Amino acid sequence: MELDGLILPLLSWYQENRRSLPWREDPTPYHIWVSEIMLQQTRIEAVKGYYVRFLAALPNIEALSEADEETLLKLWQGLGYYNRVRNLHKAAVQIVAQYDGEMPGRYDELLTLPGIGAYTAGAIASIGFGECVPCVDGNVLRVVKRYEGGFEDIANESVKRDVWQRLKSSMEQTLPEGSAGAFNEALMELGEVICIPNGTPLCEKCPLANQCVAHKKNLWQHLPVKSPKKARRIEERTVFVLRCEESVALRKRNEKGLLAGLWELPQVEGHLSEEEAMIWLRERGLEPVTFAKTDPAKHIFTHVEWHMSGYVVDVEAMAGEGLVWTKKADREAGYALPSALDGFLSYLS
Ligand code: SF4
Repeated sequence: MELDGLILPLLSWYQENRRSLPWREDPTPYHIWVSEIMLQQTRIEAVKGYYVRFLAALPNIEALSEADEETLLKLWQGLGYYNRVRNLHKAAVQIVAQYDGEMPGRYDELLTLPGIGAYTAGAIASIGFGECVPCVDGNVLRVVKRYEGGFEDIANESVKRDVWQRLKSSMEQTLPEGSAGAFNEALMELGEVICIPNGTPLCEKCPLANQCVAHKKNLWQHLPVKSPKKARRIEERTVFVLRCEESVALRKRNEKGLLAGLWELPQVEGHLSEEEAMIWLRERGLEPVTFAKTDPAKHIFTHVEWHMSGYVVDVEAMAGEGLVWTKKADREAGYALPSALDGFLSYLS
């Protein structure tokens, strides 16, 4: 099915319904890039504050390229998927070395930068530079498959490629000059606020309702088709909140793997009983003064779930190999803790 018919209605709908978002106020290529990376896997409302803080600290590509890892992780603390910020940094270093600090403007050049895939390259190239390329994410696939009544599995890469290709050719044939960025934003925005993923889409407010197959045939609840993901692996962990005077013990995670290079509360695999926890402490030269169970906590990553129990322990002295004892002000200034441990923050002094 041709997708030409959705272009002009969407553009005029967007002119009237465009939301005001921080990154839309001054859409330089750098701003679009940072916002698009932050928005991967993260809700718009959650991103707004991070975006403003990040740009205040690192206002341009050169500043980003010069930032050290602790600064970057601290700015990203709580957003998760920390490889995103590492790749932002790597790409900034490459842009300074290869393009004199100016963001390259072409879709195929953007694709060569670390952390920039087809979707982000499409967003930067179209919104920042006006290139006629689509951005295809889950929102866009949902709108398109409902619009055309398509039952192909959108988890399938060939289906994504097909939608990308057809959108591109429709954009080239139908889009008014200079409106590639607005069209891509319109399509994404429609998926976020009208043709929503959970719950009933607001078809009565949709500019595509006259043509939409899912709406006309009342099929929206069956579309899009997406094969289920593999079940997540469950990992049980015991977390220790170790306190001494006004300090709390932290430990740096490995430089590779999940949450690489971040700081954490010391933790071990499995749910330790009180006796096992006492043995663990004493093996590290930590003598408890008070000892209590914390509330359990859970954190969901893409492929893994952490089911955590914990102990909050006041100890006699700041011991323990590999542990760093930190005061509150130091933690806030320079120790990036993953949001996976948010359930234990209320026990920190
Ligand atoms: S008419 Fe309804 S189902 Fe069709 S694209 Fe619009 S919101 Fe989605």
